[in-house]
Amino acid sequence: MKTAFLYVAALLFIAVESKAQMIVDPSKPLTNKPEETEIFPPQAALPKVVQPGKTFDIAPSDAIILFDGKNLDEWVSTKDKTPAKWTLADGVMVVNKPAGDIETKRNFINYQLHIEFRIPANITGSGQSRGNSGIFLAATNGKAGGYEIQVLDGYNNENKTYVNGMVGSIYKENIPLANPAKKAGEWNAYDIVWTAPTFNDNGTVKTPARVTAFLNGVLVQNNFEVEGETNYIGKHEYVKHGPAPIKLQAHGDKSEPISYRNIWLREL
Ligand code: MG
Repeated sequence: MKTAFLYVAALLFIAVESKAQMIVDPSKPLTNKPEETEIFPPQAALPKVVQPGKTFDIAPSDAIILFDGKNLDEWVSTKDKTPAKWTLADGVMVVNKPAGDIETKRNFINYQLHIEFRIPANITGSGQSRGNSGIFLAATNGKAGGYEIQVLDGYNNENKTYVNGMVGSIYKENIPLANPAKKAGEWNAYDIVWTAPTFNDNGTVKTPARVTAFLNGVLVQNNFEVEGETNYIGKHEYVKHGPAPIKLQAHGDKSEPISYRNIWLREL
């Protein structure tokens, strides 16, 4: 029930964002009637009907299903673009370190993404070596390979690491607004809105990328303006790119690897 409430909060946020786009004819003087700020078709089209999932974690009717537990058909190895070789077991995909990072076959621009991850219950290690994976919101050929929102054990702040590298952070760029991480062994859900950067012909940034993200229904990134690709070392900079895959990181710990499930996306 609590989860449902949090997802409603997320959806309300998106609704508020949409209302900001309301267009009222500026050439007409306002006469203080309520009707003059009310929009009906054909002045604007009706929003398309989307059939929501039975619960807020289930893909709505217009979503692209990237992983539903059955196969890895939507994913390839980042290294050589061959079929992804992460482990598939009990409807869950598990990071396979030797196989390396995997990414979607499809390229995306702007989207809403739902993705769930689980840090293994018997997690060991500390800092960045405790349940490290990550979601690259656009995989690129740049030094960092894109823009990472961190996946890491962060339960109750028991894992000590730099705060701009903890779970919910835009890696080494922006500290999460809160820490709603669940205990190792439990599933976490990210709901992310990604607005891709745009570039001028000469490669300079026209508009930077933006990220809004909820972790377990709690806002962790609020329309954050991305500074560039999330390099491990050095300044974060943009490298011009177009539509791009979403990439999952095989970072590799000594303990059992991270699992993912229920991954879907709505193009925006
Ligand atoms: Mg990572």
